[in-house]
Amino acid sequence: MIPLAVPNLAGNEAKYLEECVESTFVSTVGPFVKRFEDMVAAASGAPFAVATSAGTTALHAGLLTVGVKPGDLVICPAMTFIASANAIAHCGAIPWLMDVSRDTWTLDPQLMREEIVRNASLVEGSLIHTQTGRRVSAIVPVFTLGISADMDSIVAVAREFGLKIVVDAAAGLGTTYKGRRPGELGADLTMFSFNGNKTVTAGGGGAIAGTDEELMRAFRHLTTTARVGADYDHDIVGYNYRMTNLQAAVGCAQMEQLDGFVAAKRRIAATYNHAFRDLTMLSPFPDPAYGQSAAWFSGFYFDSEDGAAKSADVRQILRASGIDARPFWKPMHMQAPYAEAPRSALPVSEYLWDRIVTLPCSTHLSNEDQESVIEAVLTWASTRALQGSRERISA
Ligand SMILES: *Cc1c(COP(=O)(O)O)cnc(C)c1O
Repeated sequence: MIPLAVPNLAGNEAKYLEECVESTFVSTVGPFVKRFEDMVAAASGAPFAVATSAGTTALHAGLLTVGVKPGDLVICPAMTFIASANAIAHCGAIPWLMDVSRDTWTLDPQLMREEIVRNASLVEGSLIHTQTGRRVSAIVPVFTLGISADMDSIVAVAREFGLKIVVDAAAGLGTTYKGRRPGELGADLTMFSFNGNKTVTAGGGGAIAGTDEELMRAFRHLTTTARVGADYDHDIVGYNYRMTNLQAAVGCAQMEQLDGFVAAKRRIAATYNHAFRDLTMLSPFPDPAYGQSAAWFSGFYFDSEDGAAKSADVRQILRASGIDARPFWKPMHMQAPYAEAPRSALPVSEYLWDRIVTLPCSTHLSNEDQESVIEAVLTWASTRALQGSRERISA
């Protein structure tokens, strides 16, 4: 099987892990964690970063740090991985699901503003959702496929209504927006994931980047059991969300290769797009003019009525010939835990999700393997085109 996306461990991973073992610093104390945080901060463009056990835990603690309280609503795109909504739920808050834009597959700022104006109002400085009486406290934009959300517009809406922003840029390292990096876009906090399927991995892990030193200190405190001083004093209910030195060792070795990995991801995506340019049946992933995607995943989608059936068909044919092709995120309102969550109309999320096909895109995908994937898709497309014309003739 040519896998969808697997870690590329060709750098200093083994060497740094050995250093951990030899030094006995395998747990939450050790030099790699600090080094990793400095590397993530530098790559994000923000002055500070704190590493965590996972992207999900970073997002959870990030939302708590900016002041999300139990019972609040937090705006979140329906088209995301379930961890974004789960982190909101872990705060005792409720995701207010909104649609993404057709051009970017990220949170649609204009639609979000219209939804807010129609369904909520400012009461003594707090935004209150009219129907439920709940406070709306924050927005979680998501960098779908490594594409930046339209952050300038989202920041403007957040300022207008007094909302905090915690970005889910899980696979967003390497992305640019109007020439700026993810940590330079005006959010309160920005989350990255280092799970095994992301462009850079720490085996598992996450990080929050930010520009506000006080806020970042509060985040670090909350994620490290809220310890005060050197002994067993703790001043609030904290979390054990710290990254271990073992994870950070792998993470440092991976971060050394970030630029090369992102370049490889973009090259792989461009090669697929070029190879499929004449197939009118399928369309490339979005490529907004405002920035450059980190191209976390490669693939295409079927922008047609029968697109879901075609997507299932090509995925099945590819998998039968040893190529791991997959669908993409099922929207949050179609997931059992969030079926009742308040939401806007979600036509774009509903249209897109089962029309998408993701293709093998590991950073070390060989040219031969990518050629096999391309051949398999082209063969599938010509067979289906032929069948289509036969059916038209016989009809
Ligand atoms: C991977 C991912 C996460 C979760 O990160 P973990 O490190 O696996 O907890 C959250 N949001 C999005 C969009 C992701 O792709």
